[in-house]
Amino acid sequence: MSLFSTVEQAPPDPILGVTEKYLADKRPAKVNLGVGVYQDASGRLPLMRCVEIAEQRLAEDPKPRGYLPIDGLASYTADVRELVFGADSPLISQGRVVTVQALGGTGGLKLGADFLRQVDAAATVLISDPSWENHRALFTRAGFSVSSYRYYDPARRGIDFDGMLADLTAAQPGTIVVLHACCHNPTGYDLNREQWAQVLDVVEARNLVPFLDLAYQGFSVGLADDAWVVRTFASRLGNLFCASSFSKNFGLYGERVGAVSVLCRDADEAARVRSQLKIVVRTNFSNPPTHGAQLVATVLADPTLREIWTSELTGMRERIKSMRTSLASQLAQAGVPEMGYVAEQVGMFSYSGLTRDQMLRLREEFGVYGTDAGRICVAALNENNVGYVASSIASVVR
Ligand code: PMP
Repeated sequence: MSLFSTVEQAPPDPILGVTEKYLADKRPAKVNLGVGVYQDASGRLPLMRCVEIAEQRLAEDPKPRGYLPIDGLASYTADVRELVFGADSPLISQGRVVTVQALGGTGGLKLGADFLRQVDAAATVLISDPSWENHRALFTRAGFSVSSYRYYDPARRGIDFDGMLADLTAAQPGTIVVLHACCHNPTGYDLNREQWAQVLDVVEARNLVPFLDLAYQGFSVGLADDAWVVRTFASRLGNLFCASSFSKNFGLYGERVGAVSVLCRDADEAARVRSQLKIVVRTNFSNPPTHGAQLVATVLADPTLREIWTSELTGMRERIKSMRTSLASQLAQAGVPEMGYVAEQVGMFSYSGLTRDQMLRLREEFGVYGTDAGRICVAALNENNVGYVASSIASVVR
């Protein structure tokens, strides 16, 4: 009898499983709209120019690879703090923000979750319905009981804001609420600022703990605007968490560059929180990797490279927007004018509104791969495939 004879086969990852099927598909016209990876106009994952230059600079002056401090590369974490809270934020000068380097945005969420579990083991976590697939699993693995708040209303094809507010209002004080700071994944629908202000009122009045997931900073409106929710919450609350990721906005998916920032009531509290976060890091992976953080810090420290970065990011954002417009207009031409909402959504994803059966038909009959729940990655569209995707969608909805 093996130790593992009772180990069950885990289900495949719902998103990475789509890519496996896509790769096995031999049809030339296939399109992968499953995974959330930005692609350029020629359908390739780009190496950003700012990263390429930073890489060359690091290679020209090679350094030994000692251990980084447990909480990460100091110049990098200072940059993250400023990108999130604003360079002139009084919260930073007051020493109220603790930022710890993490393995991507996922790692930032997990560090925060493990720390929160120590602070309040009985707290419940609320995630949006629907949410990024990993939120529920990650917080569950961290030991929390996870429920959801209403977010997307399929009948209305939009946000069920009243439902969301009602669910947050009904939450117990101390409940951890995971909020997508911008570019909601998977729906592509964000709250407007007025709605965010109402959410903040409830969070404050009910004493909830916001955990803002900022995985797409720069993909909605711009770097500062996309951090508006975090900054607005931080200006009124004593505590909050924010997970940052540079996977998308630097194209550094595989380098695992992210962070968690924790807003504290004062510098003394911040020092205590930092010391505990360091234990979480130490007992999981000891200290973070050097390379990705150095790339980001190199770009952000040099005004020219920073300028190149922001203009490349603007280019990516604009390209996605133009693909949304193009998809909507080609769908209209193909006889599906009712899907104009794809042009209104933001970020890398669209909830297409297609049923599971329609998504399976798209895959089987046309080789167009999205998730079963109907999410498509609009950042993988380009001039060469958008027409085919539109006509394929038209065939399955008619
Ligand atoms: N949060 C959300 C909402 C995401 O969409 C993603 C990436 N798909 C992440 C977190 C994780 O990002 P990373 O790859 O940097 O871990």
